[in-house]
Amino acid sequence: MTGIVYKSTGSWYSVKTEENEVFECRIKGKFRMKGIKSTNPIAVGDVVDFELDQSTDEVAGIIHNIHDRKNYIVRKSVNLSKQTHIIASNIDIVFLLVTINNPPTTTSFIDRFLVTAEAYGIEAVIIFNKIDTYDEATLDEQLYLQYVYSNIGYKCLRISAAEGKGIEELKEMMKGKVSMFSGHSGVGKSTLVNALEPSLNLKTKQISEQHQQGQHTTTFAEMFDLSFGARIIDTPGIRGFGIVDMEKQEIGDYFPEFFALKDQCKFNNCLHKEEPHCAVKAALDNDEIAWSRYKSYIQILEGEDENYRTDIYGE
Ligand code: GDP
Ligand code: ZN
Repeated sequence: MTGIVYKSTGSWYSVKTEENEVFECRIKGKFRMKGIKSTNPIAVGDVVDFELDQSTDEVAGIIHNIHDRKNYIVRKSVNLSKQTHIIASNIDIVFLLVTINNPPTTTSFIDRFLVTAEAYGIEAVIIFNKIDTYDEATLDEQLYLQYVYSNIGYKCLRISAAEGKGIEELKEMMKGKVSMFSGHSGVGKSTLVNALEPSLNLKTKQISEQHQQGQHTTTFAEMFDLSFGARIIDTPGIRGFGIVDMEKQEIGDYFPEFFALKDQCKFNNCLHKEEPHCAVKAALDNDEIAWSRYKSYIQILEGEDENYRTDIYGE
């Protein structure tokens, strides 16, 4: 039998088949994924093959194969520095919830998120939430950001999770796909999920609050079916993606507007910094590339802390 892992406790996996039957499964013996050293061999989103365990009276399955993952996201363990934990796999689309003021979301944060999504090979969409609270200045700022990001190919949505505006359009984008939501605490993730599916009470909020109290909780992702034919992966406590390990040379490739110009740089290993005849720098000087994007690029390249607010209008 074949199914998708909806939930994992570390030793048991809830696997749902195409017929919507859920089986509690274990892993047979030692199971190793090719190429990835992770603390967990199987993650939420994995497609697995399993057999029913004939040796017990309980209906339990034994997983004996994982299908190749289309993508997966990881978290590096803080304590055991080099341990990698696979949070989830086979994600079709990640939505970054952005608020302009309450709380502020910096372009630096947005760009890091987008770079990581590019590196993982997952489509990213920006959702501007709380549009019901905008004054003129906020609206200007939001429209400018939407201009910057839609120009380089990212879909943008404007919603009010609280007032239910823009929700139908979002549902259309989610249909038939596996989605994830990210964004700073307070941007409205729980409110949005509630607007999408009122009966679903996700743990996003609850667990991130426990974190703030300094309580250590091992957090597991979980997949949910939504009534309008979409699935979401709930990942408690994950606000952004962080930055995956990447070579300096790769970073520019994850800025789509830089990547498009790369062949026109004089040096094929151009880092778009001080090199002569750099097409990216030239585009920047001609205002064809947003300063905030270039600034984020340099920050990531130089490994700077993202902890300050960049001026979205550039310098
Ligand atoms: P989370 O931490 O990302 O899950 O954010 P919450 O869903 O808990 O929302 C944080 C606060 O923002 C709550 O007080 C919500 O009522 C409020 N909020 C969420 N979405 C909107 C919105 O579209 N408009 C307004 N005005 N408030 C919102
Ligand atoms: Zn260059």
